[in-house]
Amino acid sequence: MYKNLHFKIILIFVIFTIVLMTAISAVLLTNAYNFYSNDFLDEMETSFSDGSSLVAELSEAMNGAGFSSKQSEILRAYSGMLGISKYRNYYILDTSGKMLDGSDATLGAALEVTPNMLSAISGQVGDKTQFWTSYMDYAYPMSVDGNECIIYIKDSQEEARNFAEMIFQITVQAIFFGMLVAIVLSFFLAKAIVSPISELTSSARRIAEGEFSEEVKVNSNDEIGTLSLTFNHMKNVLKSTLDEISGERQKFETLFLYLNDAVLAFDSHGKLMHINKTAKKLFGLEGENDDGAMSFSRMMRILQIDYHEVSQKYRENRNYVISDIIFEGKALDVTFAEFRYVQGESESTGIMCVIHDNTGRYELDKSRREFVADVSHELRTPLTSIKGAVETVLEYPDLDAESRDGFLKMAVEECDRMTRIVSELLVLSRLDNNRTAWKIETFDISQFCRRICDVMTVDALNHGHTLVCNCDDAIPQVEGDREKLQQVMINIVANSVKYTPDGGKITLEAHGEADSVLLTVTDNGVGIPEEDLPRVFERFYRVEKSRTSDAGGTGLGLAIAKEIVDAHGGQIWIESKVGEGTKISVKLPYVTKLSVNPGMETTGIIIK
Ligand code: ADP
Repeated sequence: MYKNLHFKIILIFVIFTIVLMTAISAVLLTNAYNFYSNDFLDEMETSFSDGSSLVAELSEAMNGAGFSSKQSEILRAYSGMLGISKYRNYYILDTSGKMLDGSDATLGAALEVTPNMLSAISGQVGDKTQFWTSYMDYAYPMSVDGNECIIYIKDSQEEARNFAEMIFQITVQAIFFGMLVAIVLSFFLAKAIVSPISELTSSARRIAEGEFSEEVKVNSNDEIGTLSLTFNHMKNVLKSTLDEISGERQKFETLFLYLNDAVLAFDSHGKLMHINKTAKKLFGLEGENDDGAMSFSRMMRILQIDYHEVSQKYRENRNYVISDIIFEGKALDVTFAEFRYVQGESESTGIMCVIHDNTGRYELDKSRREFVADVSHELRTPLTSIKGAVETVLEYPDLDAESRDGFLKMAVEECDRMTRIVSELLVLSRLDNNRTAWKIETFDISQFCRRICDVMTVDALNHGHTLVCNCDDAIPQVEGDREKLQQVMINIVANSVKYTPDGGKITLEAHGEADSVLLTVTDNGVGIPEEDLPRVFERFYRVEKSRTSDAGGTGLGLAIAKEIVDAHGGQIWIESKVGEGTKISVKLPYVTKLSVNPGMETTGIIIK
């Protein structure tokens, strides 16, 4: 309370009033005393001036013995002029200061010797005023015909004191009322000053809490009004700046949160400052309190990055990238970048790590490399066989005709195989580059199934298989490249024929669904191990390579089938159990997505 402005203003007013009143009363008192003493002196000097009637009469009375009683008579007669009262007395003294006669015998008997009295004893008029005394006096020496006396007038100043007392009482009352008025006035003044300041303070507090809605009221044109106006302006500028900053920040946070790249920011001590969703997912920190466990060194350990190598490279270049870090089957590019941040009063430098999942590109590069290796391998095998066969025939001219034919036949078969591989690769290449010409037509699916069975019957019979064709009657017509889809299904049935021991059963079925037809080829053949199932649609992938190449497979048939079915907007999948058999399903929409843009027409697809 003692520190607030309101109290201070009231206190200043009260002190000011007391000081002012006290000063006024002091001046009044001094002047009153001066007036009294000057008035006393004036009266005395007038009465006792040379040639005055009083002096003449007093001098005349001194011409005989017992003059003091005569003089006393005269002075009593002049008491009006001399202002004689109960507070002011006259005395006739001898030259030693002893009273001869006077207006108050009691007081006169106890008269003290004063400086003015001493002056008169020495023959001078005693008319000096002493400020520190409680009386005023005047001593007039007289000497006539050898008679000497001193006329001594003494005023007890009682009247002045009564007057001063009255002034003092008035002053006290004035101070009291002045103080009341000062308190009331200062209260209103303080209110006028403090209210806008309090309003500004609470507004500033609201701004600090982030609330910008209310304006400070401007009630006057004075400095406080200007301050309120300036404050409102400052608040508006601050609000728009904050809005701008928070907008930018929100944009950044959204970007940071939903960025597909993992982002982690570490402070100068390697402690985690920020982490986004992708990074949490990458490092399995999705629990509420998991973030605390992450640090820069831990991240480096998890990603198996050489800390010293990075710090050396980072020192040379403040933006350093490490590519193809393999972590949990993903290929990651990690970028280290420096950033500055303010902590407390000081500025520090942290490290921002942006982790980009490059698995797609990495896998593509890898599969390209593997593909080239596979192609080379697939072509080298028949070439080696051809070379071996031809060399044998050349080296041994005496070879019997049967053996020589056998070698030459083998060379021709290997050439066919190579031709098949190259043709299938060409088909795949066209499909990859969208250069395949599609011949879109609408066809009947039961006719389509019958045709496949007709084509495959001879092959199936050669292996002693039973080929069953089950096709729903009421399947709507299907749109697509009939020839290529036929080749896909022939390839699938041919696989069943190949990978089913002689005397097996192969069933081709077709069922109509709401917006597509489901074609399935089921056999009771060797089946495919579970771990190989996800890979059978990859190029050159064969289960037990030796077994399948004996069967004349290239490992490209299902890859091509998948590309063709996908291009139609359909699906292909495989279910199999080793020793029990395999089921391959193809789902084709009645309306193919190829009808939108069938492309150029070229030669058909070659399928073994
Ligand atoms: P291939 O020319 O080798 O037959 P595919 O791409 O047609 O190539 O098939 C890939 C591999 O999938 C085959 O090598 C074979 O191991 C396996 N496979 C495909 N169909 C069957 C099936 N019906 N039964 C058993 N294995 C099969």
